[in-house]
Amino acid sequence: MPTPQQLLQEIFGYTAFRGAQQAIVEHVIAGGDALVLMPTGGGKSLCYQIPALARPGIGIIVSPLIALMQDQVDALKQLGVSAAFLNSSLDAEAAREVYRQVHNGELKLLYVAPERLMTEGFLGLLEWLDEQESIALFAIDEAHCVSQWGHDFRPEYRALTILHERFPAVPRIALTATADAPTRHEIVERLALEQAKQFVSSFDRPNIRYRVTQKLNARNQLQAFLESEHPQDAGIVYCLSRKKVEETAAWLKEQGWDALPYHAGLDAATRQANQSRFLREEGVIMVATVAFGMGIDKPNVRFVAHLDLPKSMEGYYQETGRAGRDGLPANAWMAYGLGDVVSMRQMLLSGDAPEERKRVELQKLDALLGYCESTECRHQTILRYFGEQHPGDCGQCDNCLEPVDTWDATQAAQMALSCVYRTGQRFGVAHLIDVLLGKQTPKVEQFDHQRLSTFGIGHALTQQQWSSVYRQLVAAGFIAVDMEAYGGLRLAESARPVLRGEQSVWLRRDAEPVKRRNTKAERGSRLREAFADAHDDPLWQALRVKRMELAKEQGVPPYVIFHDSTLLEILNRRPQSLTELGQISGIGQAKLSRYGDDFLRVLEEAANGR
Ligand code: ADP
Ligand code: ZN
Repeated sequence: MPTPQQLLQEIFGYTAFRGAQQAIVEHVIAGGDALVLMPTGGGKSLCYQIPALARPGIGIIVSPLIALMQDQVDALKQLGVSAAFLNSSLDAEAAREVYRQVHNGELKLLYVAPERLMTEGFLGLLEWLDEQESIALFAIDEAHCVSQWGHDFRPEYRALTILHERFPAVPRIALTATADAPTRHEIVERLALEQAKQFVSSFDRPNIRYRVTQKLNARNQLQAFLESEHPQDAGIVYCLSRKKVEETAAWLKEQGWDALPYHAGLDAATRQANQSRFLREEGVIMVATVAFGMGIDKPNVRFVAHLDLPKSMEGYYQETGRAGRDGLPANAWMAYGLGDVVSMRQMLLSGDAPEERKRVELQKLDALLGYCESTECRHQTILRYFGEQHPGDCGQCDNCLEPVDTWDATQAAQMALSCVYRTGQRFGVAHLIDVLLGKQTPKVEQFDHQRLSTFGIGHALTQQQWSSVYRQLVAAGFIAVDMEAYGGLRLAESARPVLRGEQSVWLRRDAEPVKRRNTKAERGSRLREAFADAHDDPLWQALRVKRMELAKEQGVPPYVIFHDSTLLEILNRRPQSLTELGQISGIGQAKLSRYGDDFLRVLEEAANGR
């Protein structure tokens, strides 16, 4: 039997295990049960794939994500591993063929949908395999699907205890990227994993650079962000509503971007087609509601942009976490303004959820707003929310890269609050700012607001600065959004001590909008620079073209051939022989013999200047 290390190198082409992988793999190979909590991109697949290869028999992987199974199986086949899947997308004959392969011991890994696993026919097959000690392990992927409280609840997952009852000798490994303690406890309880060893990784995603910018003109800001940092990259742009998804996608398209819409209101065929283009082609931008993303395993999503606020820190972490699964530099970018706070509060308050639920949702929104307005390290703030420590000063977030000033805004806050009060607590922010700046608008005249004591007292700040003040006062809860008055602002109880001068208010100083950043200097880490420079290198383009050609030939996404990280290493090391090529991370024996010559030819042509 090959050792785990040999399997890692020869099959997967990786030099070393990451984080807890080795401990997990050894534990499962020895027959132990495991619960693995690892962030997206942490490398969960290897944790069951290597033990399945190392142990006699077949590894059975339960997964709720039908769309993913095909990709996983394609990827394994590329590595020379015999794998298959069983789910409702197969016709009867194809399914029979898989049963036959299992029966004949031809497969090392089988992905099954939970409802398929529960059929008597399949359980019978498992029993037969078990009698000959031919089940290597059970892996339960996306194990948080047992949780009734999560968004991905799958009732069939609850029945998976049957695995433990009927096949007590087969090791089980449950995996999830959902971090919180209640979900973890529920997984343990529901899957009878009390005896399982728990492997909890850090949920930090150091390769993601988090930024939150003040929303001014969101479209132009997005355009500037894409142009300066992601001119050719695949990414996701999240919007709150279907309508905004459609409009934003259409607008990006007009501007020359390869953008597609995705939301639950599109018919299934369009959704499928758009998703498939996103996965199989390079540089496609998906503009989507949160309906998009679950089960998107594309490793080279280079950015996730939020044009609207997510609903919670959990949502934000999960959505941004879809960037940079491959460990290469990625961006999480959000444009956020007062309008977002108002409309999100309104949405939560006006829904017909029970009061209790609304309260929880408002609290979650407040935590997210706190994050948006925070002047501390973003990585640290996110992890703290999930109960994990981070030393801060990450060098990979806006607040660490360009430390944010705070200023004593007590007086400005008093003006802003008193303007809300004097105008009768029913106007929106645009009018309030007009009053502070002393603008003679028709509305001012209509309500005689030029007579107010707050009229024209705010000249010390610009319109944009007032907007920032109001946003922060709303986010901090000094000002409430009035549901009856169509989003008019009114004072909250906590505004009193500020108005009375008993409490001071410090606010963050939002950066002035910059036209075009000097991105090179800004990029920070060396990997970020190397990766950004690669895009200008003709050899990088040539390598990508070759990869796409091979991917098209075989009908798989390009990252199934080689990941960007592998291409980047080829670019930087310029191997000249198969042996040298074989030392590059991500090139195992099967891929070396399949694609080695093709890529060496590309390198040779580049070297000869052709
Ligand atoms: P997860 O399922 O936890 O999101 P994956 O299993 O898809 O993560 O792995 C994320 C990426 O990291 C994949 O591209 C995978 O090939 C790569 N990877 C995993 N383990 C290693 C390792 N030990 N060395 C190098 N790359 C790895
Ligand atoms: Zn930081």
